[in-house]
Amino acid sequence: MSTKPIAVIGGGCAGLSAAATLAERGHAVTLFESSPQLGGRARSVAIENKDLSQALDNGQHIMLGAYRETLGLLEKAGVNVAQAFERLPLSMHIKSGTGQTDFSLQSWTKLPAPFNLLMGFLCCKGLHLGERYTALRFMHRLQSSSELIKEDIPLDIFLEQHRQSKRLMTLLWEPLCLAALNTPIHRASSRIFLNVLKDSFSSDKHNSDFLLPRLDLSQIIAQPLAHYIQAKGGTIQCSHRVRSIHADNDELRVETSQGTSHFSHVFSHVVVATSPATVDQLIADIPQLRHTAQQTQAFTFQPIYTIYLQYPADTRLPSSMIGLTGTTAQWVFDRGRLCQQLGLLAVIISAEGAHQQMSQAQLALVVAQELKQVFPQLAQPFWHQVITEKRATFSCNAGLSRPGNTTALPNLYLAGDYTYEDYPATIEGAVRSGIRCADLISDDILKGCPYVGL
Ligand SMILES: Cc1cc2nc3c(=O)[nH]c(=O)nc-3n(C[C@H](O)[C@H](O)[C@H](O)COP(=O)(O)OP(=O)(O)OC[C@H]3O[C@@H](n4cnc5c(N)ncnc54)[C@H](O)[C@@H]3O)c2cc1C
Repeated sequence: MSTKPIAVIGGGCAGLSAAATLAERGHAVTLFESSPQLGGRARSVAIENKDLSQALDNGQHIMLGAYRETLGLLEKAGVNVAQAFERLPLSMHIKSGTGQTDFSLQSWTKLPAPFNLLMGFLCCKGLHLGERYTALRFMHRLQSSSELIKEDIPLDIFLEQHRQSKRLMTLLWEPLCLAALNTPIHRASSRIFLNVLKDSFSSDKHNSDFLLPRLDLSQIIAQPLAHYIQAKGGTIQCSHRVRSIHADNDELRVETSQGTSHFSHVFSHVVVATSPATVDQLIADIPQLRHTAQQTQAFTFQPIYTIYLQYPADTRLPSSMIGLTGTTAQWVFDRGRLCQQLGLLAVIISAEGAHQQMSQAQLALVVAQELKQVFPQLAQPFWHQVITEKRATFSCNAGLSRPGNTTALPNLYLAGDYTYEDYPATIEGAVRSGIRCADLISDDILKGCPYVGL
């Protein structure tokens, strides 16, 4: 449609979705990514000297059936979603460090939403009748969550106000909060948590399905989207760091570097799709964007640790994903069941905690000992690989002020998980933010085009 060049800075989920949507609409788009590899915080990582059938990911990711835009985009890019993911109707199994199943909740797949989960709660293991009733009543009231939230307060206080017992907190809400927001419950935004619950647990029963990748993340996200962008005429420049952006009348000048070479380009519109941890480096010197830069400088971040442990090939867990409570390890995934990486377990530890003081070797040892307690049949792991993402997500704190997609410069937009204000840091938030930016730019170009409709 338009021949005006548009730049997208950052090749994570947000930048890829912005570039794919713009290219699909016929805009001339160039995506700059500073690293040699696309995918940002959802990427695969090559591990040397390990006998692996496929790459590992920078962290075990889970998507939900409610990730409507992500799944739609991947399908457009040619991903066979049914093959790329194992789809599990919501089932939560939380085991304590002693190996006992403390809590187990299974969606009733034959019933429509929300009855599939209401029945699940009614019949769940590990809660007293009174606790099931309070959890049920709370879930039921979610339908009108806007009335539930008068002010965005920390989730633990909010849940106490709604009479959720200590055990409900430990067995249900805290694991869900960490999984969804990657933020400790005493800081987490109750507003965002309820948004996630509402989107996942209402309207369509498949919204609460877990989608667990069967392939490495780059095969599912970055590679198909990159092919799609290029097939639609877009350009991708990896290993090109954007160093600065300057507003020149109606245009934006973007300075990039590749190694020791420097380049200057001019664009009509720019989407800055870098992470909230680095966005201020690009916008702080633009006088109109100082306020936005200050807003992002106030963000704090939470880590995610992924500990891969390789056991003998015949090792199998009772299900693909199991929650743990009272242990350093929080969730364990059986990669043999998921992606044919036989005997490989991936253990996730979300958010800040004492584990951050341990060396990688100590952490792997502690986690392996905990798993042995819970699953006594486990042998000794042959090797471990710990991947630490120190700034995995922004801390989704109560009352956090987040910038939107438009800025004080009419042709500069922000995309990224942190700009999609209804969600925590997720792939879906990132993808939606990219599509929104593409929509805003398309509208802007249409408004400025005298030949529309001819
Ligand atoms: C370990 C881990 C586990 C997670 N688990 C889940 C999960 O289960 N489910 C879920 O939905 N989400 C999960 N997330 C969060 C999810 O991965 C992120 O929310 C999402 O990938 C963010 O995408 P983004 O495009 O907003 O940002 P990013 O992925 O951070 O992309 C920004 C890109 O910009 C590039 N860049 C930065 N500066 C420049 C520059 N100057 N020039 C050019 N390029 C630049 C970066 O290299 C990067 O590629 C997890 C994240 C981590 C780290």
